[in-house]
Amino acid sequence: MAHQWQGVIAEYIDRLPFAESDPVVTLREGGTPLVYSRALSEQTGAEVYVKVEGMNPTGSFKDRGMTTAISKVLQTDDKIVACASTGNTSASAAAYAVAAGLECAVILPAGKIAAGKLAQAIMHGAKLVAVDGNFDDCLNIVRELTESYPVALVNSVNPYRLQGQKTASFEIVDELGDAPDIHILPVGNAGNISAYWMGYMEYAGKTTPASIDDSATRLEARATKVPQMWGFQAWNAAPLVLGHPIEAPETLATAIRIGNPASWDYAIDARDTSGGFIDRVTDEEILEAQSLLAAQTGVFVEPASAASIAGLLKTSAAGKVPEGAKIVCTVTGNGLKDTATALAPKGELSFDPIAPTIDAAVAALNL
Ligand SMILES: *Cc1c(COP(=O)(O)O)cnc(C)c1O
Repeated sequence: MAHQWQGVIAEYIDRLPFAESDPVVTLREGGTPLVYSRALSEQTGAEVYVKVEGMNPTGSFKDRGMTTAISKVLQTDDKIVACASTGNTSASAAAYAVAAGLECAVILPAGKIAAGKLAQAIMHGAKLVAVDGNFDDCLNIVRELTESYPVALVNSVNPYRLQGQKTASFEIVDELGDAPDIHILPVGNAGNISAYWMGYMEYAGKTTPASIDDSATRLEARATKVPQMWGFQAWNAAPLVLGHPIEAPETLATAIRIGNPASWDYAIDARDTSGGFIDRVTDEEILEAQSLLAAQTGVFVEPASAASIAGLLKTSAAGKVPEGAKIVCTVTGNGLKDTATALAPKGELSFDPIAPTIDAAVAALNL
């Protein structure tokens, strides 16, 4: 019988801070497709794959960290989970809270959430509070809230989030047989680039999972090397590129509209230890990359996700992509979450109806 994917905790329990007897809340996240892109490979002279994280249960990579974070909440007395969110964290937290039988409170920046993500949080029954401020303001509120009330924080400052998210690196190595040469990610709050780096380092046997010291000796290395980590922020939300927090970050890629990344130090360590870099791309480059990926590779992602593709193309245009390098780009979330932004540059959608005949259809299709 073919193996059916069980979710990231079950698949990688020997490398996660869980025992077999611990409660697990899962929607069978992870096991996402690693898709070879002929178009991107031809354009860059490299061997390019996209890790399609929009295929997770709530449509973004956040589910990998939510299964671990919310499973851990079941070991406490907390009955409510809370997060600040640019959209996908709330969608994921709300769904996993339902699966766990917990309440979910979401603090989000007013007017800055894509409609699809808001719909998810509402349908999963989360309590929503809109704040007249940005993501960073929301995160500050949640942090204070969880310090004084019996509420569990499930933003990526919760260390179990990164533990779950690191499993994406494991899957990539398991599929390719070794680590790629270069790994490219969009960067917002910088949790994901930090988690991938942790995963690659652990799988190569260069570090051992902090929480698993007594079994550490039993973990074999599964990769012979680690990749360079390349991160891309949005042009006007690029604190890691500029080297200081930004008061009023702006980008239509709302999932990376963050001015003061929580995982700042980890991200800088990933960049420097791996010999990579963090750069920025404009909103125009992001939309262009989103269009290209949909039209030439067959993968429809949300704008923030396309920052990794935009960064690859920009670096390639500058002649800085090594010939033949094996490259994985994480595309973080599903395009269906934010169709308004995707369609805006295409202009007004209008269809002139034709007569209901085969001839009229043939004529309209120019066959
Ligand atoms: C959360 C998110 C990001 C940013 O990830 P960080 O870990 O905050 O850097 C990028 N893209 C999508 C779709 C996201 O949901």
